[in-house]
Amino acid sequence: MSFSFKAMWQYKCPRCRQTKIFTEPFDIAKPLDMPKRCAYCNQRTEPELGFYYGAMFISYVISAFLLLAPTLLLVFYFKWNPTSAISFAIFLAALVYFKLLRGSRSLWLHINVPYDPKALEANKTE
Ligand SMILES: [Zn+2]
Repeated sequence: MSFSFKAMWQYKCPRCRQTKIFTEPFDIAKPLDMPKRCAYCNQRTEPELGFYYGAMFISYVISAFLLLAPTLLLVFYFKWNPTSAISFAIFLAALVYFKLLRGSRSLWLHINVPYDPKALEANKTE
C-alpha cells in the first residue's frame, strides 16, 4: 500500500491507477459525474452511500488554509484594505473551484482505497 500524489492529482482510480475516476470529457454542468465502477479493476467510485461527506471536510480544510493564509498576509503584512483582500480571496476561490471540488473527492477516495496492482486478476474470480 502506497499513496501516490500524482495518481490522486490526475484523478486516477486509486486501486489500479489505470483509468480516471471522473467521467470524461469534463462537463461544466456535471463536474462530479463519475462512472459507477472503474472500467479496469471494477472498483466502485462511491464505496458506500454518503462516502463523499468526508471529501466535503477535506475541501473545507484545504480551502480554509488556501484562502485564509494569503488573505491574512495581504491585510496584515502588505497592508491591503480588507475589502480588496476579500475580493482577492473570492477571485482565488473561483480560480481553484473545480480543482478543489474534484481534488478533494479524489484525495478522499485515495485515502480510503489502497493501491492494488493485482486488482484486475482478483476481480476476475468475483
Ligand atoms: Zn481501477
